[in-house]
Amino acid sequence: MRLTVNEIVDFTNGELLTNNGGIVIESCVIDSRKASPNSMFVPFVGENVDGYSYIKSAIEKGCKCVLIESERYLDKDLNCQFILVENNQSALQKLAERYREKLSTFVIGVTGSNGKTTTKDLVASIAKGKGKTLKTLGNLNNELGLPLMILQCEPHHEIAVLEMGMSQLGEIDLLSKIGKPNVGIITNIGESHLEHLKTKDNILKAKSEIFNHMSQDGVAIINGDDEYLKKIYSQLPRRITYGLSKENDLCAYNITSYNHKTTFQVKGLGYDFSASIPLLGDHNVINSLAAIAVGHVLKLDEKLIIQGLVSPEMTSMRTEIINLRDDLVVINDCYNASETSTLAALKVLKEYKGASGRKIAILGDMLELGDYSEEAHFNVGAFAASNNVSTIIAIGQFSGDILKGAQGQGFEGEMAKYKDSHEAARNIMHHIRQADTVLVKGSRGVKMEEIVAMIKEEF
Ligand code: ATP
Ligand code: MG
Repeated sequence: MRLTVNEIVDFTNGELLTNNGGIVIESCVIDSRKASPNSMFVPFVGENVDGYSYIKSAIEKGCKCVLIESERYLDKDLNCQFILVENNQSALQKLAERYREKLSTFVIGVTGSNGKTTTKDLVASIAKGKGKTLKTLGNLNNELGLPLMILQCEPHHEIAVLEMGMSQLGEIDLLSKIGKPNVGIITNIGESHLEHLKTKDNILKAKSEIFNHMSQDGVAIINGDDEYLKKIYSQLPRRITYGLSKENDLCAYNITSYNHKTTFQVKGLGYDFSASIPLLGDHNVINSLAAIAVGHVLKLDEKLIIQGLVSPEMTSMRTEIINLRDDLVVINDCYNASETSTLAALKVLKEYKGASGRKIAILGDMLELGDYSEEAHFNVGAFAASNNVSTIIAIGQFSGDILKGAQGQGFEGEMAKYKDSHEAARNIMHHIRQADTVLVKGSRGVKMEEIVAMIKEEF
């Protein structure tokens, strides 16, 4: 970004308490350790950290402007501009919103219950064929992450692909208001956040807020196989549906996969071609279709789309295949988990043909499912048991429900449960051996990556 302090004062409805409003600010950080020359620091008070105590260290790194919520943080001896605002979070959001209005960048917003980060990466990889593209770093998809991403957008970025996450109604509305997408994608409506939102209809409502502030000529791209998303078709004047069903505007068929690669045929929107992705699972073919639909909106020809899918830069821990010593394969899918995404991952485990040994499912808690938790864990255990898994290792408070689900299917393989990922990591070597394929999946809070790290250490 490139804004003067005076412009920031205007955009945030703030008051400049110092006297050099002409200074140009080039970036914005909320973590003082990331401050760089000519940056602006926005301190936040968290559970463990008081951002205000790091103002000096941000300034030592070259920060030239700080947003503060009270004059008591003003220090005129420091070589820095101080802007007083009512609330740092809403000031940051307002700043990003006004900055976005100045940009001519074509913004693609991605929301949905599962596959946002993956879809965002695939969309960006195709969009690169059109012009300079910015995409959300990792998972910076919330009320702070999205504004920070927008502020990273430079005038030379022709396209920005922004992930939008939520846990409550109204949150995507806010992100859409700030980002004003030209294209809005909803990947699907799953069970994540049922704890807060209670029903899937509410989840549909929350995700659909992405279209609230879409530009007049904006295009909605939605997963047409999703029964909930079907309910909003008629309300969307310009829409593209995608999925495996032939009724969609864009569909995929003849899906085949081997080792790390999946090949499929694409048809619709004037396209008819074969594409290949370095990812596994039908869910990733579906995510690719969303990206191809964006390619269509950007008027890209088949060649550029196919090229974009060949080697996209993906974010780690999403159905990531890791080959280790002794032909052991780990499917590292431990960034997060819900019922839908766990079933998708178990299908990948079942279909994986790259190793000759047993299939092992290591499944941690799927959190924030509210009253649906027990049933979801039971279903996952049942699905694992009837899908060619030889060992089920369940971790966390719902581990008993996973095992009950497996037993309900008459599962006769090996089962174990552990209270947390530390305990599981310590014992994991009792359960796996060479040439096994091991799926590791669980919610963020369960930190299943500790188990992956342990397996990597041993193999
Ligand atoms: P978060 O809410 O944590 O940001 P996300 O929506 O960004 O999640 P990803 O990180 O892309 O989702 O994917 C998480 C996991 O969800 C993947 O590893 C995979 O198991 C599963 N997944 C990805 N895409 C889909 C899809 N289209 N349908 C169902 N499951 C999916
Ligand atoms: Mg994500």
